[in-house]
Amino acid sequence: MNLERVLPPGVGARTFDVALVALRAVVGEAHVIADAEGLVPYGRLMLPAEDFNHQPSGVVAPASVEEIQAILKICVHAQIPLWTVSTGRNFGYGSAAPATRGQMVLDLRRMNRILEVDAELGTALVEPGVTYQQLQDHLRAQGIPLWLDFPAPGPLVSPMGNTLERGGGLTPYGDHFANSCGMEVVLSDGTLLRTGMGGVKGTNTWQAFKYGYGPYLDGLFTQSNYGVVTKLGLWLMPAPPAHRTFMVQWHRDDDLARAIDTIRPLRLTNVIPNFGVLANATLVLTGPCRRAELYDGPGAIPQAVVEKAARERGLPPWVYLFSLYGRQEQIDLDTPFVTREFEKAGATVIPNIHDPMQSNELSLQTFSIFNWTGGGGLVWFSPVAPTRGADCALQTQLAREVMGRYGIDFMTGMTINGRETLNVMPMVYDRSDAAKTLAARRCYHELIDVFAAAGYGFYRTGIGFMDHVAAVHGEANRAVAQRLKHALDPAGILAPGKSGIHP
Ligand SMILES: Cc1cc2nc3c(=O)[nH]c(=O)nc-3n(C[C@H](O)[C@H](O)[C@H](O)COP(=O)(O)OP(=O)(O)OC[C@H]3O[C@@H](n4cnc5c(N)ncnc54)[C@H](O)[C@@H]3O)c2cc1C
Repeated sequence: MNLERVLPPGVGARTFDVALVALRAVVGEAHVIADAEGLVPYGRLMLPAEDFNHQPSGVVAPASVEEIQAILKICVHAQIPLWTVSTGRNFGYGSAAPATRGQMVLDLRRMNRILEVDAELGTALVEPGVTYQQLQDHLRAQGIPLWLDFPAPGPLVSPMGNTLERGGGLTPYGDHFANSCGMEVVLSDGTLLRTGMGGVKGTNTWQAFKYGYGPYLDGLFTQSNYGVVTKLGLWLMPAPPAHRTFMVQWHRDDDLARAIDTIRPLRLTNVIPNFGVLANATLVLTGPCRRAELYDGPGAIPQAVVEKAARERGLPPWVYLFSLYGRQEQIDLDTPFVTREFEKAGATVIPNIHDPMQSNELSLQTFSIFNWTGGGGLVWFSPVAPTRGADCALQTQLAREVMGRYGIDFMTGMTINGRETLNVMPMVYDRSDAAKTLAARRCYHELIDVFAAAGYGFYRTGIGFMDHVAAVHGEANRAVAQRLKHALDPAGILAPGKSGIHP
Protein backbone atom coordinates (compact mmCIF):
# COMPACT_ATOMS: atom_id res chain seq x y z
CA MET A 1 0.00 0.00 0.00
CA ASN A 2 1.26 3.47 -0.91
CA LEU A 3 1.27 5.58 2.27
CA GLU A 4 2.51 8.81 0.68
CA ARG A 5 1.07 12.09 1.91
CA VAL A 6 -1.98 13.23 -0.11
CA LEU A 7 -2.63 16.97 -0.36
CA PRO A 8 -5.83 18.75 -1.42
CA PRO A 9 -5.60 19.67 -5.11
CA GLY A 10 -3.75 22.95 -5.65
CA VAL A 11 -2.99 23.35 -1.93
CA GLY A 12 0.65 23.42 -0.85
CA ALA A 13 1.97 21.44 2.13
CA ARG A 14 2.56 24.61 4.17
CA THR A 15 -0.94 25.99 3.62
CA PHE A 16 -2.40 22.59 4.46
CA ASP A 17 -0.35 22.35 7.67
CA VAL A 18 -1.48 25.81 8.77
CA ALA A 19 -5.10 24.81 8.09
CA LEU A 20 -4.66 21.59 10.09
CA VAL A 21 -3.45 23.58 13.09
CA ALA A 22 -6.52 25.81 12.81
CA LEU A 23 -8.85 22.80 12.44
CA ARG A 24 -7.31 21.15 15.52
CA ALA A 25 -7.96 24.31 17.48
CA VAL A 26 -11.64 24.02 16.55
CA VAL A 27 -12.36 20.32 17.10
CA GLY A 28 -9.50 19.19 19.31
CA GLU A 29 -6.30 17.30 18.48
CA ALA A 30 -7.96 13.88 18.52
CA HIS A 31 -10.53 14.79 15.89
CA VAL A 32 -8.28 15.68 13.00
CA ILE A 33 -6.52 12.87 11.15
CA ALA A 34 -3.85 13.62 8.59
CA ASP A 35 -1.35 10.77 8.92
CA ALA A 36 -1.36 8.28 6.08
CA GLU A 37 -2.00 5.28 8.32
CA GLY A 38 -4.92 6.93 10.12
CA LEU A 39 -6.51 7.75 6.77
CA VAL A 40 -6.46 4.17 5.46
CA PRO A 41 -10.00 3.27 6.64
CA TYR A 42 -11.40 6.40 4.97
CA GLY A 43 -9.89 5.53 1.59
CA ARG A 44 -10.88 1.86 1.57
CA LEU A 45 -13.13 0.98 -1.34
CA MET A 46 -15.35 -1.95 -2.20
CA LEU A 47 -16.33 -0.65 -5.63
CA PRO A 48 -13.95 -1.05 -8.57
CA ALA A 49 -12.88 2.60 -8.89
CA GLU A 50 -9.15 3.35 -8.84
CA ASP A 51 -7.88 3.68 -5.27
CA PHE A 52 -5.50 6.50 -6.21
CA ASN A 53 -8.33 8.78 -7.36
CA HIS A 54 -10.24 8.60 -4.08
CA GLN A 55 -7.63 8.97 -1.34
CA PRO A 56 -8.54 11.68 1.19
CA SER A 57 -5.97 14.19 2.45
CA GLY A 58 -7.38 14.24 5.97
CA VAL A 59 -10.37 13.85 8.23
CA VAL A 60 -12.02 16.40 10.48
CA ALA A 61 -14.75 15.34 12.88
CA PRO A 62 -16.79 18.16 14.46
CA ALA A 63 -19.18 17.83 17.40
CA SER A 64 -21.55 20.71 16.67
CA VAL A 65 -23.02 23.04 14.05
CA GLU A 66 -20.80 25.85 15.35
CA GLU A 67 -17.72 23.71 14.81
CA ILE A 68 -18.87 22.95 11.25
CA GLN A 69 -19.24 26.67 10.59
CA ALA A 70 -15.72 27.30 11.91
CA ILE A 71 -14.33 24.43 9.79
CA LEU A 72 -16.01 25.83 6.69
CA LYS A 73 -14.43 29.24 7.27
CA ILE A 74 -10.96 27.69 7.47
CA CYS A 75 -11.50 25.45 4.45
CA VAL A 76 -13.00 28.20 2.28
CA HIS A 77 -9.99 30.36 3.12
CA ALA A 78 -7.46 27.59 2.36
CA GLN A 79 -9.50 26.19 -0.55
CA ILE A 80 -9.63 22.71 1.00
CA PRO A 81 -12.50 20.60 -0.39
CA LEU A 82 -14.62 18.71 2.17
CA TRP A 83 -16.38 15.39 1.53
CA THR A 84 -19.23 15.07 4.06
CA VAL A 85 -20.23 11.70 5.51
CA SER A 86 -22.69 10.92 8.28
CA THR A 87 -21.66 7.38 9.24
CA GLY A 88 -19.51 6.87 6.11
CA ARG A 89 -20.72 3.36 5.34
CA ASN A 90 -21.94 3.88 1.82
CA PHE A 91 -20.78 0.34 1.06
CA GLY A 92 -20.68 -0.50 -2.63
CA TYR A 93 -21.16 3.17 -3.57
CA GLY A 94 -17.85 4.51 -2.17
CA SER A 95 -17.96 3.95 1.62
CA ALA A 96 -16.42 7.10 3.20
CA ALA A 97 -14.04 7.93 0.34
CA PRO A 98 -14.35 11.16 -1.66
CA ALA A 99 -15.28 11.43 -5.33
CA THR A 100 -11.94 13.07 -6.12
CA ARG A 101 -8.46 12.72 -4.68
CA GLY A 102 -7.30 14.97 -1.85
CA GLN A 103 -10.62 16.06 -0.31
CA MET A 104 -10.79 16.10 3.49
CA VAL A 105 -13.52 13.91 4.91
CA LEU A 106 -15.93 15.88 7.09
CA ASP A 107 -16.91 13.01 9.38
CA LEU A 108 -20.13 13.77 11.29
CA ARG A 109 -20.23 10.55 13.34
CA ARG A 110 -19.68 12.47 16.59
CA MET A 111 -22.89 14.44 16.05
CA ASN A 112 -25.14 11.61 17.10
CA ARG A 113 -27.98 12.96 19.20
CA ILE A 114 -31.58 11.89 18.81
CA LEU A 115 -33.06 15.35 19.31
CA GLU A 116 -36.73 14.49 19.44
CA VAL A 117 -39.20 11.67 18.99
CA ASP A 118 -42.88 12.57 18.81
CA ALA A 119 -44.73 9.38 19.65
CA GLU A 120 -48.12 10.90 18.74
CA LEU A 121 -47.20 12.22 15.29
CA GLY A 122 -44.72 9.44 14.54
CA THR A 123 -41.77 11.73 13.83
CA ALA A 124 -38.15 12.02 14.87
CA LEU A 125 -35.40 14.60 14.51
CA VAL A 126 -31.87 13.23 14.33
CA GLU A 127 -28.30 14.33 13.84
CA PRO A 128 -26.05 12.82 11.13
CA GLY A 129 -24.19 10.26 13.27
CA VAL A 130 -27.33 8.57 14.65
CA THR A 131 -27.57 4.97 13.45
CA TYR A 132 -30.77 3.02 12.87
CA GLN A 133 -29.67 0.74 15.71
CA GLN A 134 -29.36 3.68 18.09
CA LEU A 135 -32.77 4.99 17.09
CA GLN A 136 -34.38 1.60 17.46
CA ASP A 137 -32.76 1.06 20.89
CA HIS A 138 -34.12 4.45 21.93
CA LEU A 139 -37.67 3.66 20.75
CA ARG A 140 -37.61 0.31 22.54
CA ALA A 141 -36.13 1.74 25.73
CA GLN A 142 -38.86 4.40 25.80
CA GLY A 143 -41.59 1.90 24.87
CA ILE A 144 -42.58 3.99 21.83
CA PRO A 145 -44.65 1.87 19.41
CA LEU A 146 -43.07 3.10 16.16
CA TRP A 147 -41.29 0.99 13.54
CA LEU A 148 -38.19 1.95 11.64
CA ASP A 149 -37.61 1.31 7.99
CA PHE A 150 -33.92 0.68 7.30
CA PRO A 151 -31.56 -0.46 4.56
CA ALA A 152 -30.00 -3.92 4.89
CA PRO A 153 -26.91 -2.68 6.79
CA GLY A 154 -29.23 -0.89 9.27
CA PRO A 155 -27.32 -1.65 12.47
CA LEU A 156 -24.25 0.20 11.15
CA VAL A 157 -25.58 3.06 9.03
CA SER A 158 -27.50 6.29 9.43
CA PRO A 159 -30.96 7.57 8.52
CA MET A 160 -29.15 10.77 7.47
CA GLY A 161 -26.65 9.23 5.02
CA ASN A 162 -29.19 6.80 3.63
CA THR A 163 -31.92 9.39 3.16
CA LEU A 164 -29.56 11.90 1.53
CA GLU A 165 -28.63 9.17 -0.96
CA ARG A 166 -32.37 8.51 -1.47
CA GLY A 167 -31.79 4.95 -0.30
CA GLY A 168 -34.48 2.55 0.73
CA GLY A 169 -35.80 -0.32 2.81
CA LEU A 170 -38.66 -2.77 2.48
CA THR A 171 -41.61 -1.71 4.65
CA PRO A 172 -44.37 0.69 3.51
CA TYR A 173 -41.98 3.49 4.61
CA GLY A 174 -39.25 2.13 2.32
CA ASP A 175 -38.75 5.33 0.29
CA HIS A 176 -36.65 7.16 2.85
CA PHE A 177 -36.57 10.57 1.22
CA ALA A 178 -40.37 10.47 0.78
CA ASN A 179 -40.59 9.76 4.52
CA SER A 180 -38.28 12.57 5.60
CA CYS A 181 -39.60 15.94 6.71
CA GLY A 182 -37.49 19.02 7.33
CA MET A 183 -33.73 19.54 7.26
CA GLU A 184 -31.21 21.84 8.86
CA VAL A 185 -28.39 22.66 6.45
CA VAL A 186 -25.16 24.63 6.76
CA LEU A 187 -24.03 26.25 3.51
CA SER A 188 -20.35 26.78 2.77
CA ASP A 189 -20.57 30.47 3.73
CA GLY A 190 -21.86 29.46 7.15
CA THR A 191 -25.56 30.23 6.48
CA LEU A 192 -27.83 28.05 8.62
CA LEU A 193 -30.99 27.07 6.73
CA ARG A 194 -33.98 25.17 8.08
CA THR A 195 -36.15 23.89 5.27
CA GLY A 196 -39.93 23.47 5.18
CA MET A 197 -41.57 24.89 8.32
CA GLY A 198 -38.21 25.07 10.13
CA GLY A 199 -37.77 28.79 9.54
CA VAL A 200 -40.94 29.75 11.42
CA LYS A 201 -40.12 31.03 14.92
CA GLY A 202 -41.49 28.64 17.54
CA THR A 203 -42.65 26.15 14.91
CA ASN A 204 -44.07 22.81 15.98
CA THR A 205 -44.82 21.63 12.44
CA TRP A 206 -41.20 21.27 11.14
CA GLN A 207 -41.44 17.47 11.18
CA ALA A 208 -45.15 17.40 10.28
CA PHE A 209 -45.43 19.42 7.03
CA LYS A 210 -42.75 19.03 4.40
CA TYR A 211 -43.39 21.78 1.92
CA GLY A 212 -43.29 24.97 3.99
CA TYR A 213 -43.93 28.06 1.91
CA GLY A 214 -42.38 28.81 -1.47
CA PRO A 215 -40.05 26.46 -3.31
CA TYR A 216 -39.61 23.03 -1.75
CA LEU A 217 -35.86 22.85 -1.20
CA ASP A 218 -35.15 19.52 0.51
CA GLY A 219 -34.49 17.60 -2.71
CA LEU A 220 -31.62 19.97 -3.48
CA PHE A 221 -29.64 18.55 -0.59
CA THR A 222 -29.97 14.89 -1.63
CA GLN A 223 -27.41 13.24 -3.93
CA SER A 224 -25.78 16.66 -4.14
CA ASN A 225 -22.98 18.83 -2.78
CA TYR A 226 -24.78 22.07 -1.95
CA GLY A 227 -24.67 21.95 1.84
CA VAL A 228 -23.86 20.03 5.01
CA VAL A 229 -27.07 18.63 6.46
CA THR A 230 -26.95 18.73 10.25
CA LYS A 231 -30.50 17.72 11.24
CA LEU A 232 -33.09 15.59 9.51
CA GLY A 233 -36.75 14.97 10.30
CA LEU A 234 -38.09 11.43 9.81
CA TRP A 235 -41.55 9.94 9.61
CA LEU A 236 -41.85 6.62 11.40
CA MET A 237 -44.52 3.97 10.88
CA PRO A 238 -46.94 3.27 13.73
CA ALA A 239 -46.22 -0.32 14.77
CA PRO A 240 -48.81 -2.38 12.89
CA PRO A 241 -50.93 -4.66 15.09
CA ALA A 242 -50.04 -7.55 12.76
CA HIS A 243 -48.09 -8.34 9.63
CA ARG A 244 -47.57 -11.38 7.42
CA THR A 245 -44.69 -11.90 4.98
CA PHE A 246 -45.13 -14.06 1.89
CA MET A 247 -42.69 -15.75 -0.43
CA VAL A 248 -43.91 -16.00 -4.02
CA GLN A 249 -41.99 -18.57 -6.02
CA TRP A 250 -41.74 -18.24 -9.81
CA HIS A 251 -40.75 -21.55 -11.30
CA ARG A 252 -39.19 -20.60 -14.62
CA ASP A 253 -36.49 -18.11 -15.48
CA ASP A 254 -38.73 -16.53 -18.12
CA ASP A 255 -41.50 -15.95 -15.55
CA LEU A 256 -39.93 -12.58 -14.73
CA ALA A 257 -42.12 -10.45 -17.02
CA ARG A 258 -45.25 -12.19 -15.78
CA ALA A 259 -44.15 -11.68 -12.17
CA ILE A 260 -43.74 -7.94 -12.67
CA ASP A 261 -47.06 -7.58 -14.49
CA THR A 262 -48.80 -9.47 -11.68
CA ILE A 263 -47.20 -7.40 -8.93
CA ARG A 264 -47.84 -3.98 -10.58
CA PRO A 265 -51.64 -3.75 -10.08
CA LEU A 266 -51.29 -5.04 -6.51
CA ARG A 267 -48.77 -2.28 -5.79
CA LEU A 268 -50.67 0.44 -7.68
CA THR A 269 -53.80 -0.24 -5.65
CA ASN A 270 -51.76 -0.56 -2.45
CA VAL A 271 -53.08 -4.06 -1.76
CA ILE A 272 -49.37 -4.83 -1.36
CA PRO A 273 -48.28 -1.78 0.65
CA ASN A 274 -44.51 -2.29 0.68
CA PHE A 275 -41.75 -2.38 -1.95
CA GLY A 276 -40.93 -5.99 -1.23
CA VAL A 277 -38.07 -7.47 -3.20
CA LEU A 278 -37.94 -9.67 -6.27
CA ALA A 279 -34.62 -11.52 -6.28
CA ASN A 280 -33.06 -13.93 -8.71
CA ALA A 281 -31.76 -17.29 -7.51
CA THR A 282 -28.09 -16.28 -7.70
CA LEU A 283 -28.69 -13.47 -5.19
CA VAL A 284 -30.68 -15.81 -2.93
CA LEU A 285 -27.88 -18.41 -3.09
CA THR A 286 -25.35 -15.91 -1.67
CA GLY A 287 -27.09 -16.61 1.67
CA PRO A 288 -26.37 -20.32 2.04
CA CYS A 289 -23.53 -20.86 -0.49
CA ARG A 290 -20.13 -19.81 -1.62
CA ARG A 291 -19.67 -19.59 -5.37
CA ALA A 292 -16.74 -22.00 -5.38
CA GLU A 293 -18.97 -24.80 -3.98
CA LEU A 294 -21.17 -24.54 -7.06
CA TYR A 295 -18.90 -23.62 -9.93
CA ASP A 296 -15.21 -23.40 -10.69
CA GLY A 297 -15.33 -23.09 -14.48
CA PRO A 298 -14.50 -20.05 -16.59
CA GLY A 299 -16.68 -16.94 -16.88
CA ALA A 300 -19.90 -16.07 -15.08
CA ILE A 301 -21.76 -18.86 -13.30
CA PRO A 302 -24.10 -20.48 -15.90
CA GLN A 303 -27.83 -20.08 -15.31
CA ALA A 304 -28.27 -23.89 -15.48
CA VAL A 305 -25.84 -24.32 -12.57
CA VAL A 306 -27.67 -21.65 -10.58
CA GLU A 307 -31.07 -23.22 -11.20
CA LYS A 308 -29.84 -26.70 -10.26
CA ALA A 309 -28.26 -25.41 -7.02
CA ALA A 310 -31.44 -23.49 -6.24
CA ARG A 311 -33.68 -26.50 -6.94
CA GLU A 312 -31.60 -28.65 -4.59
CA ARG A 313 -32.37 -26.11 -1.87
CA GLY A 314 -36.07 -25.87 -2.69
CA LEU A 315 -35.67 -22.49 -4.40
CA PRO A 316 -37.00 -21.36 -7.78
CA PRO A 317 -35.31 -19.01 -10.33
CA TRP A 318 -37.17 -15.94 -8.99
CA VAL A 319 -38.48 -15.20 -5.52
CA TYR A 320 -40.66 -12.24 -4.48
CA LEU A 321 -40.96 -11.37 -0.80
CA PHE A 322 -43.68 -8.96 0.30
CA SER A 323 -45.79 -8.31 3.38
CA LEU A 324 -49.26 -7.30 4.42
CA TYR A 325 -49.48 -4.98 7.43
CA GLY A 326 -52.39 -3.85 9.59
CA ARG A 327 -55.25 -5.40 11.50
CA GLN A 328 -55.26 -9.22 11.56
CA GLU A 329 -58.81 -9.28 10.08
CA GLN A 330 -57.68 -7.18 7.13
CA ILE A 331 -54.60 -9.37 6.56
CA ASP A 332 -56.74 -12.51 6.73
CA LEU A 333 -59.15 -10.93 4.23
CA ASP A 334 -56.42 -9.95 1.76
CA THR A 335 -54.41 -13.17 2.03
CA PRO A 336 -56.65 -15.36 -0.19
CA PHE A 337 -56.98 -12.51 -2.71
CA VAL A 338 -53.24 -11.94 -3.19
CA THR A 339 -52.61 -15.68 -3.14
CA ARG A 340 -55.15 -16.20 -5.93
CA GLU A 341 -53.68 -13.39 -8.04
CA PHE A 342 -50.23 -14.99 -7.92
CA GLU A 343 -51.51 -18.53 -8.37
CA LYS A 344 -53.47 -17.47 -11.47
CA ALA A 345 -50.10 -16.37 -12.91
CA GLY A 346 -48.57 -19.79 -12.19
CA ALA A 347 -46.63 -18.93 -9.02
CA THR A 348 -46.63 -20.69 -5.66
CA VAL A 349 -47.34 -18.60 -2.56
CA ILE A 350 -45.86 -19.53 0.80
CA PRO A 351 -47.25 -17.48 3.72
CA ASN A 352 -45.71 -16.74 7.11
CA ILE A 353 -42.14 -16.32 5.95
CA HIS A 354 -39.67 -14.47 8.16
CA ASP A 355 -37.84 -11.48 6.67
CA PRO A 356 -36.08 -9.20 9.18
CA MET A 357 -36.13 -6.11 6.93
CA GLN A 358 -39.91 -6.31 6.53
CA SER A 359 -40.40 -6.99 10.25
CA ASN A 360 -38.56 -4.16 12.04
CA GLU A 361 -35.64 -6.44 12.98
CA LEU A 362 -32.16 -5.09 12.43
CA SER A 363 -29.75 -7.71 11.19
CA LEU A 364 -26.61 -8.01 9.10
CA GLN A 365 -27.63 -11.24 7.39
CA THR A 366 -27.28 -9.80 3.85
CA PHE A 367 -23.56 -9.33 4.45
CA SER A 368 -23.25 -13.01 3.51
CA ILE A 369 -23.08 -11.64 -0.04
CA PHE A 370 -19.38 -10.96 0.58
CA ASN A 371 -18.73 -14.69 1.02
CA TRP A 372 -19.86 -15.43 -2.53
CA THR A 373 -16.45 -14.77 -4.10
CA GLY A 374 -14.45 -13.46 -1.13
CA GLY A 375 -12.05 -10.55 -1.67
CA GLY A 376 -14.43 -7.78 -0.56
CA GLY A 377 -15.42 -6.34 -3.97
CA LEU A 378 -18.99 -5.01 -4.32
CA VAL A 379 -20.60 -2.36 -6.48
CA TRP A 380 -24.29 -1.73 -7.05
CA PHE A 381 -25.49 -1.16 -10.61
CA SER A 382 -28.84 0.55 -10.09
CA PRO A 383 -30.92 1.36 -13.17
CA VAL A 384 -34.60 2.25 -12.95
CA ALA A 385 -37.27 0.49 -15.01
CA PRO A 386 -40.94 1.29 -15.39
CA THR A 387 -42.84 -1.47 -13.56
CA ARG A 388 -43.56 -3.37 -16.74
CA GLY A 389 -42.64 -6.97 -17.38
CA ALA A 390 -41.12 -6.27 -20.79
CA ASP A 391 -38.77 -3.61 -19.42
CA CYS A 392 -37.59 -5.64 -16.43
CA ALA A 393 -37.02 -8.63 -18.72
CA LEU A 394 -35.07 -6.46 -21.17
CA GLN A 395 -32.92 -5.02 -18.38
CA THR A 396 -32.20 -8.53 -17.15
CA GLN A 397 -31.22 -9.66 -20.62
CA LEU A 398 -28.96 -6.62 -21.18
CA ALA A 399 -27.25 -6.98 -17.80
CA ARG A 400 -26.72 -10.72 -18.21
CA GLU A 401 -25.14 -10.22 -21.63
CA VAL A 402 -22.76 -7.47 -20.53
CA MET A 403 -21.85 -9.01 -17.15
CA GLY A 404 -21.41 -12.40 -18.81
CA ARG A 405 -18.79 -10.97 -21.14
CA TYR A 406 -16.77 -9.79 -18.12
CA GLY A 407 -17.20 -13.01 -16.15
CA ILE A 408 -19.43 -11.34 -13.53
CA ASP A 409 -22.39 -13.23 -12.08
CA PHE A 410 -25.75 -11.55 -12.69
CA MET A 411 -27.70 -10.85 -9.50
CA THR A 412 -30.61 -8.57 -8.86
CA GLY A 413 -32.91 -7.58 -6.02
CA MET A 414 -35.64 -5.42 -7.57
CA THR A 415 -37.64 -3.17 -5.28
CA ILE A 416 -41.00 -2.77 -6.93
CA ASN A 417 -43.25 0.24 -6.72
CA GLY A 418 -46.49 0.69 -8.67
CA ARG A 419 -44.84 2.70 -11.40
CA GLU A 420 -41.09 2.33 -11.04
CA THR A 421 -38.82 -0.56 -10.22
CA LEU A 422 -35.36 0.02 -8.78
CA ASN A 423 -33.41 -2.79 -10.40
CA VAL A 424 -30.57 -2.99 -7.92
CA MET A 425 -27.86 -5.34 -9.15
CA PRO A 426 -24.94 -6.15 -6.86
CA MET A 427 -21.76 -6.99 -8.74
CA VAL A 428 -19.64 -9.09 -6.41
CA TYR A 429 -15.99 -9.69 -7.28
CA ASP A 430 -12.60 -10.38 -5.74
CA ARG A 431 -11.07 -6.95 -5.13
CA SER A 432 -7.71 -8.44 -4.20
CA ASP A 433 -7.38 -9.47 -7.86
CA ALA A 434 -6.38 -6.46 -9.99
CA ALA A 435 -7.59 -8.04 -13.25
CA LYS A 436 -11.02 -8.78 -11.78
CA THR A 437 -11.25 -5.26 -10.36
CA LEU A 438 -10.44 -3.78 -13.75
CA ALA A 439 -12.97 -6.07 -15.43
CA ALA A 440 -15.66 -4.98 -12.95
CA ARG A 441 -14.86 -1.31 -13.62
CA ARG A 442 -15.02 -1.72 -17.39
CA CYS A 443 -18.17 -3.79 -17.09
CA TYR A 444 -19.86 -1.08 -15.02
CA HIS A 445 -19.01 1.63 -17.57
CA GLU A 446 -20.26 -0.54 -20.40
CA LEU A 447 -23.48 -1.28 -18.50
CA ILE A 448 -24.09 2.46 -18.12
CA ASP A 449 -23.69 2.94 -21.89
CA VAL A 450 -25.81 -0.06 -22.85
CA PHE A 451 -28.63 0.89 -20.50
CA ALA A 452 -28.50 4.55 -21.56
CA ALA A 453 -28.70 3.49 -25.21
CA ALA A 454 -31.89 1.62 -24.33
CA GLY A 455 -33.33 4.77 -22.69
CA TYR A 456 -32.77 3.87 -19.04
CA GLY A 457 -31.41 6.14 -16.31
CA PHE A 458 -30.19 5.43 -12.79
CA TYR A 459 -31.42 5.74 -9.23
CA ARG A 460 -27.98 6.14 -7.69
CA THR A 461 -24.33 5.46 -8.38
CA GLY A 462 -20.97 5.41 -6.66
CA ILE A 463 -17.78 7.45 -6.80
CA GLY A 464 -15.76 6.76 -9.93
CA PHE A 465 -18.94 6.50 -12.00
CA MET A 466 -20.70 9.76 -11.13
CA ASP A 467 -19.57 11.85 -14.13
CA HIS A 468 -20.57 9.06 -16.49
CA VAL A 469 -24.07 8.65 -14.98
CA ALA A 470 -24.58 12.45 -14.82
CA ALA A 471 -23.81 12.64 -18.55
CA VAL A 472 -26.57 10.10 -19.26
CA HIS A 473 -29.09 12.30 -17.48
CA GLY A 474 -28.59 15.11 -19.95
CA GLU A 475 -26.68 18.33 -20.49
CA ALA A 476 -29.44 20.65 -19.28
CA ASN A 477 -29.71 18.75 -16.00
CA ARG A 478 -25.95 18.92 -15.56
CA ALA A 479 -25.81 22.65 -16.40
CA VAL A 480 -28.61 23.57 -13.97
CA ALA A 481 -26.98 21.48 -11.22
CA GLN A 482 -23.80 23.44 -11.92
CA ARG A 483 -25.58 26.82 -11.70
CA LEU A 484 -27.09 25.81 -8.37
CA LYS A 485 -23.62 24.80 -7.22
CA HIS A 486 -22.26 28.25 -8.02
CA ALA A 487 -25.16 29.92 -6.23
CA LEU A 488 -25.11 27.81 -3.06
CA ASP A 489 -21.41 26.98 -2.74
CA PRO A 490 -19.60 29.76 -4.60
CA ALA A 491 -16.32 28.76 -2.93
CA GLY A 492 -16.75 25.32 -4.52
CA ILE A 493 -15.37 23.45 -1.52
CA LEU A 494 -18.22 21.04 -0.76
CA ALA A 495 -17.76 17.53 -2.15
CA PRO A 496 -16.53 18.32 -5.67
CA GLY A 497 -17.56 15.58 -8.07
CA LYS A 498 -20.55 14.35 -6.06
CA SER A 499 -23.19 13.22 -8.59
CA GLY A 500 -20.97 14.66 -11.34
CA ILE A 501 -21.32 18.22 -9.98
CA HIS A 502 -17.99 20.05 -9.98
CA PRO A 503 -17.16 23.61 -8.83
C1 LIG B 1 -24.84 -5.95 1.97
C2 LIG B 1 -25.29 -4.53 1.76
C3 LIG B 1 -26.64 -4.26 1.64
C4 LIG B 1 -27.08 -2.94 1.41
N1 LIG B 1 -28.41 -2.71 1.36
C5 LIG B 1 -28.88 -1.46 1.16
C6 LIG B 1 -30.29 -1.22 1.15
O1 LIG B 1 -31.10 -2.11 1.41
N2 LIG B 1 -30.71 0.05 0.88
C7 LIG B 1 -29.84 1.07 0.67
O2 LIG B 1 -30.28 2.21 0.44
N3 LIG B 1 -28.51 0.87 0.73
C8 LIG B 1 -28.01 -0.37 0.96
N4 LIG B 1 -26.63 -0.56 1.04
C9 LIG B 1 -25.72 0.55 0.71
C10 LIG B 1 -25.25 1.46 1.90
O3 LIG B 1 -24.48 0.72 2.81
C11 LIG B 1 -26.38 2.19 2.60
O4 LIG B 1 -27.11 2.97 1.67
C12 LIG B 1 -25.93 3.12 3.75
O5 LIG B 1 -27.07 3.61 4.44
C13 LIG B 1 -25.12 4.33 3.30
O6 LIG B 1 -24.15 4.59 4.27
P1 LIG B 1 -24.32 5.70 5.41
O7 LIG B 1 -25.71 5.62 5.95
O8 LIG B 1 -23.18 5.50 6.34
O9 LIG B 1 -24.20 7.05 4.58
P2 LIG B 1 -22.91 7.98 4.44
O10 LIG B 1 -21.78 7.19 3.86
O11 LIG B 1 -22.67 8.71 5.69
O12 LIG B 1 -23.47 9.02 3.38
C14 LIG B 1 -23.73 8.69 2.05
C15 LIG B 1 -23.48 9.91 1.17
O13 LIG B 1 -24.45 10.91 1.45
C16 LIG B 1 -23.85 12.21 1.46
N5 LIG B 1 -23.96 12.73 2.83
C17 LIG B 1 -23.95 11.98 3.96
N6 LIG B 1 -24.16 12.74 5.02
C18 LIG B 1 -24.29 14.00 4.58
C19 LIG B 1 -24.56 15.24 5.24
N7 LIG B 1 -24.75 15.29 6.56
N8 LIG B 1 -24.65 16.36 4.48
C20 LIG B 1 -24.49 16.31 3.14
N9 LIG B 1 -24.26 15.16 2.47
C21 LIG B 1 -24.16 14.02 3.19
C22 LIG B 1 -22.42 12.02 1.02
O14 LIG B 1 -22.35 12.20 -0.38
C23 LIG B 1 -22.14 10.59 1.39
O15 LIG B 1 -21.15 10.01 0.58
C24 LIG B 1 -26.14 -1.88 1.27
C25 LIG B 1 -24.77 -2.16 1.40
C26 LIG B 1 -24.36 -3.47 1.66
C27 LIG B 1 -22.91 -3.77 1.80
